[in-house]
Amino acid sequence: MDPRFINTIPSLRYDDDKCDDEYAFVKALCMSGGDGANSYSANSRLQKKVLSMAKPVLVRNTEEMMMNLDFPTYIKVAELGCSSGQNSFLAIFEIINTINVLCQHVNKNSPEIDCCLNDLPENDFNTTFKFVPFFNKELMITNKSSCFVYGAPGSFYSRLFSRNSLHLIHSSYALHWLSKVPEKLENNKGNLYITSSSPQSAYKAYLNQFQKDFTMFLRLRSEEIVSNGRMVLNFIGRNTLNDPLYRDCCHFWTLLSNSLRDLVFEGLVSESKLDAFNMPFYDPNVQELKEVIQKEGSFEINELESHGFDLGHYYEEDDFEAGRNEANGIRAVSEPMLIAHFGEEIIDTLFDKYAYHVTQHANCRNKTTVSLVVSLTKK
Ligand code: SAH
Repeated sequence: MDPRFINTIPSLRYDDDKCDDEYAFVKALCMSGGDGANSYSANSRLQKKVLSMAKPVLVRNTEEMMMNLDFPTYIKVAELGCSSGQNSFLAIFEIINTINVLCQHVNKNSPEIDCCLNDLPENDFNTTFKFVPFFNKELMITNKSSCFVYGAPGSFYSRLFSRNSLHLIHSSYALHWLSKVPEKLENNKGNLYITSSSPQSAYKAYLNQFQKDFTMFLRLRSEEIVSNGRMVLNFIGRNTLNDPLYRDCCHFWTLLSNSLRDLVFEGLVSESKLDAFNMPFYDPNVQELKEVIQKEGSFEINELESHGFDLGHYYEEDDFEAGRNEANGIRAVSEPMLIAHFGEEIIDTLFDKYAYHVTQHANCRNKTTVSLVVSLTKK
């Protein structure tokens, strides 16, 4: 897009210019599109499992939103970071189902419902929109109802919807992505994220970026959601309260760093190229999350839970299969950025290495990476 156009709309810009050149690959952040073997759509079973873990919280908050708003005749729902494929519809299906069942139960007419699917403009919306007819058919069969589906391309770190228009906001597995790689990230060479060998300054830089981004997210959503509207968010977090640098030896970014280092050793990737690659990602713990929400002040916390998950071993498979599974899952969420920075040639080899590293950690248990689920009410 013509940058002069963007410059004429200051509200579209959010502190994103400084690191643009240094970390140009961040612009490629999106999941692998389409429905082929390496696509997000075909490799997001874990995210589907997380969605079903968070379902009771979503159902409860949808019911309470309806009752507290006295059964509005029109509802607007936003699904933020919807990505591509069937997962985009799982939560909104639950929301519509819950609303209809509740309305029948209390003998009220069901509202008309608008569902807005948001993701970054690079997202493969086409693959998602192809599911709309199936989704509406399923809704008709289950509830004799339908909804109107819209696309809302843009960053959730910018305004996406008109003021006071949303009743319910949902987002699954998206808010651990930051708007950019933190500034002042020094002495973290050879690692693409925080590991036990990173300096404290790396943790501070990442935490600071998360605080800025999540505060901005809450402020923007508070402008878009009606008073007493609800927000249900889940994303990757960690359950360590003491050592902020601690990440398990089998943490997915640690394994990706190790795999890239293998390629440096083999001369396929230069050391400086690896040093210049850092993930725009943060996994807060419950305290860090609570602090940002309370400080920003627009939302009341209803529930805040953490759930365990296991990236590779969530099916009863052998270690090799589990390694492949995890490698495919991580590939589907990182491939566009990796290609933008390292080129396409290394990708197959990189994820062969990754799958191997996973098998070396098959016996790691009690992982500290968790999924955080938080539900909020707009004050
Ligand atoms: N909700 C889906 C997808 C999760 S993948 C599921 O549960 O399966 C995370 C998605 O968040 C990706 O599609 C990514 O493009 C999107 N995302 C990351 N940063 C974003 C941002 N700033 N604004 C909007 N979407 C974003």
